[in-house]
Amino acid sequence: MLSQVITLLESRRPDHAELAAEVLALLLADTGGSTRVGITGVPGVGKSTFIDQFGINLCETGLSVAVLAVDPSSQRSGGSILGDKTRMSRLAFHPDAYIRPSPAGVTLGGVTRTTRETILVCEAAGFDVVLVETVGVGQSETIVAEMVDFFLVLMLAGAGDELQGIKKGVLEIADMIAVNKADGDNVTKAAAAASDYRHALSLTQPMSPSWSPPVVTCSGATNVGLDDIWTQVVVHRDKLTATGELDARRQDQQVRWMWSMVDDRLVTALRSHPAVQDIVGDVEASVRSGVLAASAAAEQLLAASDSPTG
Ligand code: GDP
Repeated sequence: MLSQVITLLESRRPDHAELAAEVLALLLADTGGSTRVGITGVPGVGKSTFIDQFGINLCETGLSVAVLAVDPSSQRSGGSILGDKTRMSRLAFHPDAYIRPSPAGVTLGGVTRTTRETILVCEAAGFDVVLVETVGVGQSETIVAEMVDFFLVLMLAGAGDELQGIKKGVLEIADMIAVNKADGDNVTKAAAAASDYRHALSLTQPMSPSWSPPVVTCSGATNVGLDDIWTQVVVHRDKLTATGELDARRQDQQVRWMWSMVDDRLVTALRSHPAVQDIVGDVEASVRSGVLAASAAAEQLLAASDSPTG
């Protein structure tokens, strides 16, 4: 039933959208109860291995876990059909876990326009923890950070110049950085990388006055450091609940989400307005050729959208 509801949310058919809105309205009272954790990292950092083990650990402590996962076949063209089956293979068969791959083709690093609602539906279904995975494509990290309580960034130890690989801004939205694959020969390098990240973080302004993002090392493959990461998630949740910051964060997220949907709808409505459609081709061409300033062109389109539809 959970999968069917999520499929309904993802559908673009207008009648489905209506039904989905009704279902969401009914579920809303039962949402909000999970710990929402975003997990990001470049392809190959070990996200699926990490989430598989992390999820199993959580299930073993009696928690139920929903994972909104990147669909690897949507990441590279002609991706393997077995991708989903082989990723997170243990967690996929755990009775207390649910894995939902993002639909192929429509995702930004695994994030879709319905990921937020999907979190809510998973909460209404009773999951204690919702993990949202993303690969750092475009704005996907910021988008996911905007829908979770805790944002975990997985990194790799590289060849000394760790900080070069960091996407600008990711440090500012991380609630924790974990240098993954800290096993075997890599332990020392991982510790050195962690120390570099710690230094870099000390130069940024933390998002919350009551939380300084920790930097740790871990290994998803050998299950080292994962329990500590969960402990930190819980400490973070408890601290920010006590200060009221967690509620405020979720409320702010909702309000920003509301406005971003208003923005989307307005732009869609404006673009499909007949008077705008009549002139948009010419206006764009004039802007391209430099005959019309972009600011004046914007005014023309807005003015056209004010005309009554007929
Ligand atoms: P993803 O693309 O981020 O989901 O990464 P995967 O989980 O698919 O892992 C990419 C590769 O790194 C695979 O070959 C894994 O076996 C390997 N790997 C993943 N986690 C670890 C780890 O903790 N330690 C080591 N040594 N290798 C790992």
